Amino acid sequence: MKLTLTGTASGIPVAGRRHSAALLEADGSMLLLDAGEGVSTALLEAALPSEALTAVCITHTHADHVSGLPMLLQGLHLTGRLSPLDILVPTGREDWFRAWLTGMYIFPEKWSFPVRLHPLEETRFANGALRLLPIPNRHLERVRDLAAQHGIPAQCFSLRFEHGDSSLLVSSDIAGIADVATHAGRSDVLVVDATHVPLTEITALADTYPSLRIVCTHIPPELESDLLRLASELESAYGARIRFAYDGMYIELEREKAWK
Ligand SMILES: [Zn+2]
Repeated sequence: MKLTLTGTASGIPVAGRRHSAALLEADGSMLLLDAGEGVSTALLEAALPSEALTAVCITHTHADHVSGLPMLLQGLHLTGRLSPLDILVPTGREDWFRAWLTGMYIFPEKWSFPVRLHPLEETRFANGALRLLPIPNRHLERVRDLAAQHGIPAQCFSLRFEHGDSSLLVSSDIAGIADVATHAGRSDVLVVDATHVPLTEITALADTYPSLRIVCTHIPPELESDLLRLASELESAYGARIRFAYDGMYIELEREKAWK
């Protein structure tokens, strides 16, 4: 499994980072995890052919995680993609996505490739070799009542991936480290939201699970301004076990395991 973080900004636009997106490759399958603004150019810079993506997984519908999706689909259509693209979205939001895309003239009748919307649930890719397990988290709990008044569920998911004897947990946005702590303890690498979780909770998790490697992403501006100092402090205390993400950073899970 190889994970490339193509967008590592928080929900606040900044120069030098795109919004949330990551590419996960395993055995020829290529998953896009979230599709924040800037994802289309990130995939171009990675020289990804328009047929390369197997599926897109959307963890929640905050703009910084989903706003790049229609542009991505438009770009794939205009560059002649033909193979179907599976898009896994929070359960119950399929109709909303369909209406959103239709509103952008992404009509099934004329698109060069089928856009197939599915509920985000346990799925196997790469002929069964890659298992995706979505884990509901509490990121949107604080807007549950308001969301219900507007007729939408308050859903956000962390994503766990298993391939061979390697495992990866991508927190997406969470409400606190407790949302992912148990699953992190059973994972080789955790990619964690550094906007909604204080660094002290992240280092405490690293102390609890000494073999866990952690990459902090979703970097907010207040952390950015102090990032070099924090990175060097973490390096002296944890070596390469805790790192800050940057756009284009990649992690090879099997190699990470070999380093332990
Ligand atoms: Zn976010």
